[in-house]
Amino acid sequence: MITSQEIKAMAKRMGADIVGIGSIDRWSTAPIQMDPKQIMPKAKSIIALGFRVLRGSLRGIEEGTYFSNYSAMGYGGITYLYMPMTVINLSKMIEDEGYEAVPMGHQSDWRAIDNLGYLRENYSRPVAPGKAAPDVMISMRIAGFLCGLGEIGYSKMLLTPEFGPRVRVGIIITELELEPDPIMEPGTLCNRCMACVRECPGGCIPADRTIKENVGGYELEWADVDMEKCDIVFQGKEPVKEGERGEYFVSQTGEEYKSSAINPFVHQPPMLYKSGKAICGAAGCTRACMNSLEKRGVLKNKFESPFRTGKPWKIDWSQEAIEVDYKAPYEGLNSPNAKVKDKSDTD
Ligand code: SF4
Ligand code: SF4
Repeated sequence: MITSQEIKAMAKRMGADIVGIGSIDRWSTAPIQMDPKQIMPKAKSIIALGFRVLRGSLRGIEEGTYFSNYSAMGYGGITYLYMPMTVINLSKMIEDEGYEAVPMGHQSDWRAIDNLGYLRENYSRPVAPGKAAPDVMISMRIAGFLCGLGEIGYSKMLLTPEFGPRVRVGIIITELELEPDPIMEPGTLCNRCMACVRECPGGCIPADRTIKENVGGYELEWADVDMEKCDIVFQGKEPVKEGERGEYFVSQTGEEYKSSAINPFVHQPPMLYKSGKAICGAAGCTRACMNSLEKRGVLKNKFESPFRTGKPWKIDWSQEAIEVDYKAPYEGLNSPNAKVKDKSDTD
């Protein structure tokens, strides 16, 4: 029978950066809408695969010049392309051994619960008594914790010893029984430095309001993050005040938003891999936390130079725009400066 070591080695060859395994009993206190046994009643193990967000994918936002890389290569490209391919391929290997495997490398956009964990009204119906309403949603960061990849930090993010919060998680639920990894003791990485609280541009991570949960027998506590506000702030949106116009984004119900101080775009840019809106670049929950962990020297992924070299930038939208000192390098025929082609010019 295939072993945990073989699964981990194969997962890494297929593209995962870190791999951990949890036995299904660790989810025994999971609420029905987040219970993997609701998806696979005979599940024995969960395999969690961690994919790093390259520090370089955050560089352009840190400099304020190149925003799309994080949304494409550090977010949507991992979540909707790279991770699904890896978990699908690894699941094939498990099913070749005769054990069913559910690959989960995408976000649960069909989930029956909202961002706050409440059941969506008039959304879906359980197919029988005792069953969850479709779709069940497995929390990837909790799976990361229960499979031993890292701990849940104060910011509610999964912090790993390799990359801190700079990681995305995909899982495989399987009937294959595997040797589980130890769970990381809470407090191993997060020292409650509160950098995430101070640097979240929307103040979405409160310093004085927490949630306590028993997860796999551990009493965990993390900030009661304002997810509704985060959903607006991370897109670089700011609700308009009375009398103001919102050029950046107008919702289907007519709510207008302007660009916030961490957003240089006049209008909302298009989607990239379904995640084209991560303008905030996880300023508090990822960049500030990573800075703090790197400064403390507790991460295994080390760099020659520090991530942050100056004061974080901000845009003051009440001021005139700064002119860019730029001339187009190529002047096409449609350019106002283009030379009109003379008949005597030979082709
Ligand atoms: S920034 Fe500090 S308090 Fe916040 S999650 Fe990271 S280590 Fe914990
Ligand atoms: S994504 Fe941005 S707005 Fe949301 S919690 Fe993280 S830092 Fe704050």
